[in-house]
Amino acid sequence: MPTPAWEVRPTGERRRLVHVNATARGGGVAELLHGLVPCQQAAGLNAGWAVIGGDEDFYAVTKLLHHLLHGTADPDRLRPGSVRTYRERLAPQAAWFTEWLTRDDVVVLHDPQTLGLAPMLSATGARVAWHCHVGADIPPDRGPGAVWRAFAAELSAVDAVVTTLPEFAPPSVPLARRFVAAPAIDPSAPKNRHLEPAEVAALLDRAGLTADRTAPDVRVVQQTTLPEGARVVLQVSRWDPLKDMPGVVRCLAGLAPDVHLVLAGTDPTEIPDDPEGLAVLADVEKTLAELAPADRARVHLVNVSMRDPLGNALLVNALQRRADVVLQKSLEEGFGLTVTEAMVKGRAVVASSVGGLRQQVIHERNGLLVEPTDLAGVRAALTRLLDDPALRRRLGEQARNDTLERYTMTRLVTDYGAIAGSAEE
Ligand code: UDP
Repeated sequence: MPTPAWEVRPTGERRRLVHVNATARGGGVAELLHGLVPCQQAAGLNAGWAVIGGDEDFYAVTKLLHHLLHGTADPDRLRPGSVRTYRERLAPQAAWFTEWLTRDDVVVLHDPQTLGLAPMLSATGARVAWHCHVGADIPPDRGPGAVWRAFAAELSAVDAVVTTLPEFAPPSVPLARRFVAAPAIDPSAPKNRHLEPAEVAALLDRAGLTADRTAPDVRVVQQTTLPEGARVVLQVSRWDPLKDMPGVVRCLAGLAPDVHLVLAGTDPTEIPDDPEGLAVLADVEKTLAELAPADRARVHLVNVSMRDPLGNALLVNALQRRADVVLQKSLEEGFGLTVTEAMVKGRAVVASSVGGLRQQVIHERNGLLVEPTDLAGVRAALTRLLDDPALRRRLGEQARNDTLERYTMTRLVTDYGAIAGSAEE
């Protein structure tokens, strides 16, 4: 069993605030922690970040938990044996923490992968919060209930549960221990900072999207060159079934012939806690094969490596700036950082009316909300924005203002301050 690796170490004797998650790169939580931890340190906190490890069996269980919390898996699939495997994989890693944690420390466990550490960490006297970034507006019997029941012991060991929306919290946790904090972005990070049009063009060229070349850290799976004047619809996502990338491909037929789709995702072989990526990518390629050749040539699949985190961040930034419309056609979504990243760049967004996206996007004010399973409705929203530059500008400007007001890292640092403060009362 791999030992947890420190990504950022708290230093000195002062009270430590330690975040724990399952991956250093790839996905929204890793992205969030790369921004949050330095921001908390800048605010004077002794903040750090540890990353747990796992094996195939462990990640099969944690991915099931992820789907159950989104209501997209059968609750009967969560068997006592799965819960046992999950706990067995975490126990040696908990021991690694308990060697040095004290009652003065605060630990924030992120997402279902780390919840199982709670009883052992809490036994040290340290304050333990669980920040669950996933959730869906579904009745508990569709999946979350099974997770809450199986992990009742873990949930009773945490001092605070943090969710993006109040309704995502486990009902068994007393109200006084429930907190709501939406994720946030750093507008000055490489992922979001301003890029001159020439930089955008150079980054897309380097990635092989607009020029015929192969970049070392980018695999353009669908190798056709994006024409300079093409109108672009972009979705950036992990290759996760809930992001519905095949559904995005199906949107193309029916859009004007100069509209191109760019689907960008992290190389699925590089995210250990996301075992479904290759199958989803294969599904996307199968869907592509069903398109007429002329339509297929208007779809670009970009598979970005995390081996070069700066290059990855700049490429995502460039893609979001190149896009005329940014789509997030998720079937469920606790919160979509990709949407907030697009909005802070003043992009017009079309997002599914699900979960946290409904909080991020206010229909007709700063973007458009759609029913993800209504392909005709998604196409109509895309076409409406693509054909109306003034509307795109109006929604995009509002999107930027709303994002700067509601979703920047300093707000999250303040939220965490309140959570840690009340956990002590
Ligand atoms: N991301 C990235 N490169 C990619 C695909 C995604 O850097 O090729 C980032 C994206 O910019 C965002 C995060 O991964 O910051 C995804 O977060 P989100 O909340 O949208 O979804 P999650 O993956 O957590 O479900």
